[in-house]
Amino acid sequence: MPPHDLPDLFSYDAVLFDLDGVLTPTAEVHMHAWQTMFEELFAAWDITPAYTERDYFDHLDGKKRYDGVAALLRSRDIEVPWGDPSDPPSSDTVCGIGNRKNAVFERVLRADGIAPYPGSLRLLDQLVEKRMPVAVVSSSKNAEEVLAAAGIRDRFEVVMDGVIAERDHLASKPAPDVFVEAARMLGVDPARSAAVEDALSGVRSAAAGGFALVVGVDRGVGADDLRAAGAHVVVTDLEEFVA
Ligand SMILES: [Mg+2]
Repeated sequence: MPPHDLPDLFSYDAVLFDLDGVLTPTAEVHMHAWQTMFEELFAAWDITPAYTERDYFDHLDGKKRYDGVAALLRSRDIEVPWGDPSDPPSSDTVCGIGNRKNAVFERVLRADGIAPYPGSLRLLDQLVEKRMPVAVVSSSKNAEEVLAAAGIRDRFEVVMDGVIAERDHLASKPAPDVFVEAARMLGVDPARSAAVEDALSGVRSAAAGGFALVVGVDRGVGADDLRAAGAHVVVTDLEEFVA
């Protein structure tokens, strides 16, 4: 049984997991991909000063891909046309450069793979073993690739990601739509299900969706903020739920 005051995850009808930061440390791959892409671009265009890790936190972290590209280039006094999201990765537009980063991300993911958080993997395996319905609810358009690279795609009967959300015109987190729709696809009632999130927008989404239990995983956001956003319990690792 889970220790003391933690609710028993196995008593719910289903568990819906966010992906990045909950099941996989995806941020590290994104950081690596941004760095690789901008180092190549800076070298090709003779841009100085060189790209550093600080640039990631100052200009890229938490921003939409294209907004991040524009912000970073602006910090080096470089302006290129915005272009269009359909631009190929080879085009020197904000969108093209953003798409180039995504191509590098997929390359890094395929080359290096990504290891799930060990505690998350142990919990997931126990849930699957007990035939608990589980889903992924991610805003990412790379969710399928990340799940495949992590070797856990086959555990999930439902994967709600940025591709499906866009196709079906679902409002993104913090709106409840993606969590509620994933529960519907699983055939479960949010009021009898649990949701697991590491981001404030994700916790707000699950709370607004009426989930019986919203678990906040504190990977740095802070337990108080996660609780204020609607998390019923906060853990630092999903290992704490392993039976
Ligand atoms: Mg997340």
